[in-house]
Amino acid sequence: MRAILLDRLRDPRFAGLKKLGFFMRGLLFLGRKYKCPCCNWNLRSFVGRSSILKKSQTGFCPRCNAKARHRRHWLYLEQHTKLFSAPTRLLEIGPWWALSRRFRKMANIEFVGLDLVRTGSQVTTVGDVTCMPMESAHFDAIICTHVLEHVEKDRQALSELNRVLKPGGWAIISVPLQLSRPTHEDPEITDPEDRARVFGERGHVRFYGTDLIDRLESAGFQVTLDLARQVPNAMRRKYGLRDDENIFHCRKEDPGA
Ligand SMILES: [Zn+2]
Repeated sequence: MRAILLDRLRDPRFAGLKKLGFFMRGLLFLGRKYKCPCCNWNLRSFVGRSSILKKSQTGFCPRCNAKARHRRHWLYLEQHTKLFSAPTRLLEIGPWWALSRRFRKMANIEFVGLDLVRTGSQVTTVGDVTCMPMESAHFDAIICTHVLEHVEKDRQALSELNRVLKPGGWAIISVPLQLSRPTHEDPEITDPEDRARVFGERGHVRFYGTDLIDRLESAGFQVTLDLARQVPNAMRRKYGLRDDENIFHCRKEDPGA
């Protein structure tokens, strides 16, 4: 029953029901202990992955369904970019409703959400990240959160991200990352169960290590790694952040600057 309900909520035809459901759940979880920066609600708890109502310290926001990674990204974007003030053409790869619902209301942001299929209003363009149907040097900013680990030709995807970005533009990229060892990938592992066992999820084709920086730099980016562990503890507790959501801040050089 629960699975059927969640499937219905992913169906774009039930977008209104989904919004109402999140709003009601947000009311149920009103409190003072936590805060979601993506929707600005004060909460008594976040909720777990496998349940609509089960409490969790680092789970989904009951109001907007933001995951810990989205809250981390939102806070990072506020602190380290001008996304919320400067006129910005923004591309989100594999867009997430909790973010796009806010971006699309901001007058300074021209939002494009790209995904392989149209899963909801957050997807404005259907396409493949390894061959994007977009002009070169078009976007000021890109958000690409937990996408590359699903993409077999990730170097080609990175090249595409660099291509569509304006000189001087930036991309925020994050993936499941092991800081203690190099990237592990094996194209012969194709069975979903084997992929889940080796790479963490059925749809993952690799587990990245810190040498991802080399792939990003090879695609033409100047890269800074912002470690989740450097986020102050009080902030991690308040916003329900995890200690493994590391962010690669990638800049495309502007030769004319
Ligand atoms: Zn929220």
